[in-house]
Amino acid sequence: MERVTDHKIIIIGSGPAGCTAALYLSRANLIPLVLEGLQPGGQLTITTDVENYPGFPEGILGPKLMELMRKQAERFGALFHSLETVESVDLTKHPFEVRTDQKIYEAWSVIIASGASAMQLGLPSEKELQGFGVSYCATCDGFFFRGKEIVVVGGGDSAMEEATFLTKFASKVTIVHRREEMRASKIMQERAVSNPKIAFIFNSTVEEVIGTKEGGVTSLKLRNLKTNAVTEMAAQGLFVAIGHTPNTQAYAGQLDLDERGYIRLPHRNSTATNIQGVFACGDVVDHIYRQAITAAGSGCQAALDCEKWLTHERITERWDLPKGEEERVG
Ligand code: NAP
Repeated sequence: MERVTDHKIIIIGSGPAGCTAALYLSRANLIPLVLEGLQPGGQLTITTDVENYPGFPEGILGPKLMELMRKQAERFGALFHSLETVESVDLTKHPFEVRTDQKIYEAWSVIIASGASAMQLGLPSEKELQGFGVSYCATCDGFFFRGKEIVVVGGGDSAMEEATFLTKFASKVTIVHRREEMRASKIMQERAVSNPKIAFIFNSTVEEVIGTKEGGVTSLKLRNLKTNAVTEMAAQGLFVAIGHTPNTQAYAGQLDLDERGYIRLPHRNSTATNIQGVFACGDVVDHIYRQAITAAGSGCQAALDCEKWLTHERITERWDLPKGEEERVG
């Protein structure tokens, strides 16, 4: 496999965190290579309008926002490789090794911004209508469902929280859960149960989302898991809140991960991981806020932390030297 040593800093992931890190590093003349992964632009590319990203008073389409972020970083020299997936990393040696499905890269510093993926139900109709009535983020999309009837799937804290938040906009929210007991904490359950706008359907799953890209979602087919009966229910929105999976499979065993698989940052106010020279930012470290703006902010922090570390360790002085002479410096 081809070994590439030209890129001193590799950013893994190209959502708001990765693009912002790339922008800051390239403006500091530390031209990074961004390995975009299989979903270039990250989760925002599967939403439509984004109205809560500051600077766009009329809102902006998620894919457009990501195109602009990428262009802005490219303007200062950042390089982007699309559709190259990181399969494994070796962070035990320095320079680090990042293996994709195509090449092996050596890098002096790595910024991990590989994000998290919202878990999906796995229905073809759900995929088809993503961004057209099917959503995975109430904070992002709730506003578009003013006066509508919405279904939230899930029985955990996320589902309770999303449903409660959505009652600000929706005329009615129905939580559909596959069991009778909810996994959510007592307090979150109580908040949802006592909300007059929220109804519950238990022991049921969504079998099909009905609608079109032009007209949005119009109804859902639900299957009662006890009786096996399938019914159709009117709804103009489906929010899937069944959890997120951080994209950290490639780092397990090397980086400290928490019990849910998110990368742990051991120092307060720093994006440094437990391995010197490896930084992490965006949703891969954040299961609480998960917003484009917070991811972008932490991407900026990671770039500044990385730059400071490279300078402090005098690594930037070394990397322009011919091979073998690096050891004399530092
Ligand atoms: P979670 O606790 O793992 O709950 C996921 C829910 O989705 C479960 O009820 C599960 O059903 C259901 N589910 C999973 N896969 C499904 C599928 N394919 N089809 C239908 N239903 C499915 O995830 P979460 O709610 O995102 O919470 C994750 C963590 O974040 C938790 O620790 C939670 O406490 C925390 N959190 C806290 C807050 C807060 O305190 N404000 C807010 C949000 C999240 P089963 O129960 O049958 O497995």
